[in-house]
Amino acid sequence: MYDSRELVLARLPSGVPIRTTVHVYGEGTLADGEEGPELDVPDDGGPVVYAQAAQHGREVNGAAVLRRLHERLTGADAAGDRTGFRGTFVSVPVADPLTFDHVSYTTPESLDSINANMNRCWPGDADGTLHERMAARLWPFASAADAVVDLHTGSPTMLTHTVYMRGDEACRGLAEAFGTDLLLAEAAGDDADTEWAERNFGGKFRVAATREGIPTITPELAHSREIVEEAVETGVDGMVGVLRHEGVLAGDPDPWEGTVARNHLGRVTAADSGLFRAKPDLAIGDEVADGERLGEVYDPATFETLQVAEADRDGIVYSVARESTVTAGATLVGVAERIEE
Ligand SMILES: [Zn+2]
Repeated sequence: MYDSRELVLARLPSGVPIRTTVHVYGEGTLADGEEGPELDVPDDGGPVVYAQAAQHGREVNGAAVLRRLHERLTGADAAGDRTGFRGTFVSVPVADPLTFDHVSYTTPESLDSINANMNRCWPGDADGTLHERMAARLWPFASAADAVVDLHTGSPTMLTHTVYMRGDEACRGLAEAFGTDLLLAEAAGDDADTEWAERNFGGKFRVAATREGIPTITPELAHSREIVEEAVETGVDGMVGVLRHEGVLAGDPDPWEGTVARNHLGRVTAADSGLFRAKPDLAIGDEVADGERLGEVYDPATFETLQVAEADRDGIVYSVARESTVTAGATLVGVAERIEE
């Protein structure tokens, strides 16, 4: 019913192995392969769901979610969740131990100067850079799944949301099952704007798995760096919704009634460097109109106003920069454009 194994993802220059742990619940088992544990799922073993967290190591609430879910699936009071459990659930709470130990988003250049961000190199390469090797080691567990969840978190001033590939109905269904009020539909490939390609978003784990035909979502829970009860609860409820949607757990996910908005590349950026003062009553979740004043960037030495930051579209404020010292080009406010689809 439940097993866990250590998994060596790659080796550091000193020879120290980069280790993590893979957990398997239900029908699937962990067999000993040449390179370490391998997932073995019987042919008639039912649905398989894979979830991972902390590709960006400072995003600790996803790891906390998978621990809480583990307690629900295996603990003394877990009988309710075990009743009717069908298929297999695989979880990797710390997908990137390198960034986890640095409490960072990317690795130092010395470890991976080409793919400092692990979430840009999927499905990885067993002969590639450190992050590519680590991704390649995790990929067989993910690609055996019928549905995939990649847990992330943002800053306290980012609205909780779930990203899925725009136009993909199966991904949309999974996002609704996870259940955050805001869903962001991210266009991909030729349908996306140039920034999508420039920032190498095609190498995101969610995009790579979706490309393989596996419905995949990226929930962005609130609060990096600190475990926040509300974020953990949102994540656990979301995972239970996903497991129900896939038929691993009995029951149906709660019906979803929220908002779908366009992907999160629509941002109001700093036209010049200085201090950013957001409009005092501006809050995440606010509806704003095209041209609405959101704050100002000013020169702290001369007091001169350098920029009146305005919304460039009607939409929902999903992030606000609260670290006030900004450099030109930095994101001041994220505005997601509501869409009907
Ligand atoms: Zn992240």
